Amino acid sequence: MAGQGRGRTGTVSAVSAVSAVSAVSAVSAVDAVDAVGAVGAEEDAGVYRRLGGFAQTSESVPADAPGVLGRRGFLCCLGAAALALFTDDARAAPWSTECRPALPPAANEVLQRALLGLAPEDLWDAHCHLLGNGDSGSGCYLHPSLTSGINLIERARKRVILDASCVGADASSIDRAYVERLRALTDAFPGGARWLLFAFEQAHGDAGAVDREHTTVHVPDSYARSVAAAHPERFEWVASIHPYRPDALAALRSAREHGAVAVKWLPSSMNIDPREPRCLAFADAMARLDLPLIIHCGEEKAVPGARREELVNPLLVRPLLERGARVIVAHCASLGHAADLDKPSAPLVPSFDLFARLMEERAFEGRLYGDISAVFQRNRDPAVWRAIVERRHWHGRLLQGSDYPLPGLKWLTSVPRLHAAGLLAEADIGPLEELREHNPLLFDLALKRRLRVGGGSVAGFSAEVFATRRHFMAARA
Ligand SMILES: [Zn+2]
Repeated sequence: MAGQGRGRTGTVSAVSAVSAVSAVSAVSAVDAVDAVGAVGAEEDAGVYRRLGGFAQTSESVPADAPGVLGRRGFLCCLGAAALALFTDDARAAPWSTECRPALPPAANEVLQRALLGLAPEDLWDAHCHLLGNGDSGSGCYLHPSLTSGINLIERARKRVILDASCVGADASSIDRAYVERLRALTDAFPGGARWLLFAFEQAHGDAGAVDREHTTVHVPDSYARSVAAAHPERFEWVASIHPYRPDALAALRSAREHGAVAVKWLPSSMNIDPREPRCLAFADAMARLDLPLIIHCGEEKAVPGARREELVNPLLVRPLLERGARVIVAHCASLGHAADLDKPSAPLVPSFDLFARLMEERAFEGRLYGDISAVFQRNRDPAVWRAIVERRHWHGRLLQGSDYPLPGLKWLTSVPRLHAAGLLAEADIGPLEELREHNPLLFDLALKRRLRVGGGSVAGFSAEVFATRRHFMAARA
């Protein structure tokens, strides 16, 4: 871990590549995260900016400011998650919450209140990443740009082995350690609660062939399926199938037969244009099989992959909905801007506004949903935070998701900032932060259960946001 005396600018100026992920390759993931850890920077927006655009809206900085990335990239979602796999910073690593004693009373009380009124068997975390580097033969892959650097793998290995008392005897494998750690965290939940583990498809070219060069992360369906099968009391699995694949429809049928409860796409990274006829045919099949599609909308530059950023426009989901598919927009498209394709000459608008427009279209009730994973990270606009909690008529169409392992990255979610935005009582700050030290999954759930609006007078999310199992039961029929 970086010492406090480490030169901030020295590290940061080394982060001079064109995007957050390139920065990772230039400096190594370890150093990039060390840069954050070195300043212990809960409130040091400067470092976040330099790391690639945690500055959304109010924290925007000129692109030519010293040390700032030439082109803003967003170290969010899966990129940060993959990076977290290889961090040396105990405070940032997904397995950072080492074997700790029982929860302190205040944190335990927050947790108990968070679980109150929820049926555990209905509580399915609808957005949970499975990651690995393939060292167990899983077929998982991380682009060398994510893992290059000085002895990076070795450092990650050491980190994992250090935590072996928590992750089990098999900790010499990062693949296995990741799963063991996640499974251990789920032990703290009442029986019945489950997590949807995401496979993650490779980028494909327009002709339907795998494009390995533009694949940032790959988690094969077979691996997600096997991990879920090994822990059926806790895990379900979500397939990820590129619709341009010649065998896409057969793969979809096979995934459903083997228990997949949904399909995940990240269009910008995988090169998926939802308007494409092959996507429409895929949507038809999804509708027939009654499987929901979980699609990332809104900015995602940290898994650059095919770099088709125009494809995460929420309005592109419309043709899929019109085919009758059920679509869950990841993160409610809460990050970044996109073109208003309904008014082509208009300037870019917040992606969230386009998602909201679709949510208000009557025809899409019962088809369009949003997951609330990552929504309350610090890089989202507080106005979006409040809108999602306040629109009670949406709650029946919102799904709890943690975006694990991201809740374990302290620098991504600022509890005091949520309080400052009027969404959390001051008394909840300490217990929630303590809870995060023990278990980021519990933290994520408790945080969302404690949210309030109207200065605390109006209840936050209704219980139906957390009772997500009902959205995935078709696969069980
Ligand atoms: Zn995610």
